[in-house]
Formats: sequence, C-alpha cells, structure tokens
Amino acid sequence: MRSSTRSSRRDFMQRSGAVLSAAGLVGSQAAQARGPDEVLARLVEGNKRFTEGKLVHPGRRPEDFAPLAEGQSPHTIVVGCADSRVSPEVVFDQGVGDLFVVRVAGNVVGGAGPFIKGSVEFAVAELGARLIVVLGHEACGAVKAAVTHIDANDTLPGAIRDLVEVIRPAAQAVRGKPGDKLENAIRANVELGVERLKTLDPILSGLVKKGELKVVGAVYELRTGLVRWLA
Ligand SMILES: [Zn+2]
Repeated sequence: MRSSTRSSRRDFMQRSGAVLSAAGLVGSQAAQARGPDEVLARLVEGNKRFTEGKLVHPGRRPEDFAPLAEGQSPHTIVVGCADSRVSPEVVFDQGVGDLFVVRVAGNVVGGAGPFIKGSVEFAVAELGARLIVVLGHEACGAVKAAVTHIDANDTLPGAIRDLVEVIRPAAQAVRGKPGDKLENAIRANVELGVERLKTLDPILSGLVKKGELKVVGAVYELRTGLVRWLA
C-alpha cells in the first residue's frame, strides 16, 4: 500500500479528482460554448470540406498558433491509426490546437496498456476536451494482420505480435458473421475502443453518464475521404 508506485498512483488519482472538479466548473461554461454535439458538427463540416476539396485550412497562420504557446484547449481527442493516409487534422480540416491526437497502428484502446488510455484521460481531465473520436479506416493493415494471423494461427515477428494480440478480440468477435471479414473487424475494433473509453473509470465514465463527454466511433474511407460515423 505504501510502495512508491501505489503512492504516486494514489496521488495522481487524488490530483485528477481535484482537477476534474475544477474542470467541472469551467467545463459547464465551456460545454455551452463547445459541447460534444457542437464539436462533432464541426468535424462533420470539416470532413465535408475535405471530401469536396474545399479546405479552409484553419489555424495555420502565425497569429493562430503563436497564442497557443500560452496553453491548449483542444475541442476533440482523436484516437486514430498511425496509417499515413488518415491524418486527423487533414481529414477533418482542423488547425493547430484543435485536436488532441493519439495515433497508434490499429487505433487500439483496450489491452493497449496505460499509454493510450492515460493520454485520453489527460486530455479530458487536464485540457477539457469533451469529444473523443475513435477513428478506424478501410484496409487497415494492423487489423488485417490480426485477421490473417488468427486464420493462419501463426506467429508474427517482434512486437507486431503483441500489437496484433490487442486487436485479436475484434477479429474474433466477427468470425462467422456475414459480410466482408476485414471490414467487420475494422468496425468491431472501433466499437470495442469506444466501449472501453465510455466505461473507463474514474475519469471518463462519470462524464459520459452526465452527458458532458461523448465518445463516438468512425471509419475513414480511403478512396472518398469520407468519415463514416458509427451509430
Ligand atoms: Zn490502420
């Protein structure tokens, strides 16, 4: 109980609670200005501009980014794949300071250890973000590797094996389901990530229940640039 690890963890939890309470005060003001639904609408609009080739490239000028040196308050957290074709600021036409982006191959959440979840919690508790988007994409190589690996029952080299293991539950969840196996697994992988974050104690779950934080899933279409939002 008194080990330094547990002690620092306890300190962190207490501090998070304190920060969260403070954020709650600010949060209700901020929620009026940029509630989850309003923020989501901004992303939908931004993606529409992207697909139509009508980008406005917000937040790219010195007068936009210089004030951000004083602090950040990103409106959205994106947990996305590291894939080079799915850059959140580009596909949502957002600027510097808008998105808190956590990228990892296969946009893994559950089973990925503390780093992804801790990053998301930090952006909610410390920075006041009130929308989380788990963003998968078509033809995801990491999910494909998981599906292929399970089918072949073989072993992948290095840490790729560990990464694929984290995606395994999504691939297994859709086995025998009708439709395209890879597409189903990609969607299931996003849905599992959304569910994990919605129920993540102690920071996220309470805010989700109160309606102050929204967690949504989406899949990006490589050919059209369209972000398809999951129900
Ligand atoms: Zn991917």
